[in-house]
Amino acid sequence: MFLSWDETVDVVVIGSGFAGLAAAIEAYNTGVSVIVLEKMNAPGGNSIISDGGIAAAGTEMQKKRGIKDSAELMYRDMLKAGLFLNHPELVRKVTKQSNEILQWTINYLGVEFMDRVDIFGGHSVPRCYTPLGVSGSAIIKQQLAKLEEMGGKVRTQSYFKTFIKDSKEKLIGLLVRNKFDYKDAECGTDIYIGIKKGIVLATGGFGSDVNFRSAQDPRLTGKIDTTNKPFATAEALKEAFKINAMPVQLSHIQLGPWGTPDENGYGAGARFSDYIVFPYGIIVDPKSGRRIVNELADRKIMSDAILNIGHPCIGITDTKAVDTAGWDINPCLERGIVKKFTTPEELATYYGISSAELKITIEKYNSYIENNLDEDFGKHILTEATPISSPPYYGIRTWPKVHHTMGGVQINTRAQVIDFNQEPIPRLYAAGEVTGGIHGACRLGSCAITECLVFGRTAGINAATD
Ligand SMILES: Cc1cc2nc3c(=O)[nH]c(=O)nc-3n(C[C@H](O)[C@H](O)[C@H](O)COP(=O)(O)OP(=O)(O)OC[C@H]3O[C@@H](n4cnc5c(N)ncnc54)[C@H](O)[C@@H]3O)c2cc1C
Repeated sequence: MFLSWDETVDVVVIGSGFAGLAAAIEAYNTGVSVIVLEKMNAPGGNSIISDGGIAAAGTEMQKKRGIKDSAELMYRDMLKAGLFLNHPELVRKVTKQSNEILQWTINYLGVEFMDRVDIFGGHSVPRCYTPLGVSGSAIIKQQLAKLEEMGGKVRTQSYFKTFIKDSKEKLIGLLVRNKFDYKDAECGTDIYIGIKKGIVLATGGFGSDVNFRSAQDPRLTGKIDTTNKPFATAEALKEAFKINAMPVQLSHIQLGPWGTPDENGYGAGARFSDYIVFPYGIIVDPKSGRRIVNELADRKIMSDAILNIGHPCIGITDTKAVDTAGWDINPCLERGIVKKFTTPEELATYYGISSAELKITIEKYNSYIENNLDEDFGKHILTEATPISSPPYYGIRTWPKVHHTMGGVQINTRAQVIDFNQEPIPRLYAAGEVTGGIHGACRLGSCAITECLVFGRTAGINAATD
């Protein structure tokens, strides 16, 4: 039973991933008091294990390479992949501010990026920027440093339990478990935190919550692996629903087509497929020896194609593609996730593919590269793509994994959480993967980080100043 506040603060941010830290930084910048709650014993959430790739349109890095892009084109790409279920005004904001947010990470946070611009499935042009180290930790580290510079800090092992309202239904505080420990239910004590201004919900997605996700999409039982950390669960989302936050598109759960059954979680193979096989190679059904999909289609189209085949498919590429992509694939080879072969016949035998069929498939694909036209699936043939003909050849087994939850609470462009009557819930803001509607049926690669930072900053400013 609630009696009195253990402490009071202007703004509480729940969650310490990209969205929560961006919100905390901006709230601090307005001069208010801020607490950042994090249930785990370290900050960073799924953000810290991500690749850190950000999508942005109309940047100097694109112009330098002669890539013609615009916020409008990125907007159209996101809507097309999202099957037009996206809330357009939210997509408009993300795409319009994408270049500005990339500059914010570089100039304000001090994140360094690799000198490359990549294309992932569903984007019309290369517009994805990868930080040095290919890890979201490069961004989180700088966000934490900025927070510390301001005198702020993440309060770890602080588990948000529920919202507290007064007799007039006004949101006035939170119940939080201090010294929380997943491994010890008895651990910690409950405290009450009073809120003077606002709350930012930035608790991430629910990719690891098998009960919750399989209720939305019954295919996603515990038998399907996930790239998420095990604590990516839905408890905070459910608390938001209890105070009438509008649920949006919860059944749209993204599977990463680059998953491989030969390692757990995200692993090293995902990068091999995403950066090398998909742009330059092919995916083949081992039973037929034929391609099954446009390898540069969006994640939904690709994952559905592989799931419909019903067994792992084989990603195939060659040495020239590895050189062009410019990645070190030794970690994948050392772990046995990617296999190396002298000839396509050897590769075919290893994966149980008919070598006659594979020969036809590769010859056909190579002719598409030479003619700059994929007659089977309409794949975007990149200018630097070359025929699959340079030994050694490489193969990887692909099988999708739960990666991103597109659904969540509804927000407006001010990051206010919207209720069942389509009114903002006073004092409640949300950003990042806990929100729904930005990506519709399918999130394009690298657009989550853009979205987390754009809406995280908005949520932080508005929670502190409304
Ligand atoms: C392996 C991997 C690679 C990815 N790579 C990319 C990429 O390159 N580009 C891209 O755009 N996207 C990528 N994504 C997606 C993107 O990283 C996520 O969508 C994004 O990090 C989500 O950020 P967030 O701040 O919303 O949530 P998170 O980073 O997950 O943070 C949420 C935090 O809230 C905490 N929390 C949850 N519930 C509570 C509670 N009850 N009390 C207190 N704290 C709580 C969690 O512990 C967590 O730390 C990737 C995702 C994964 C899993």
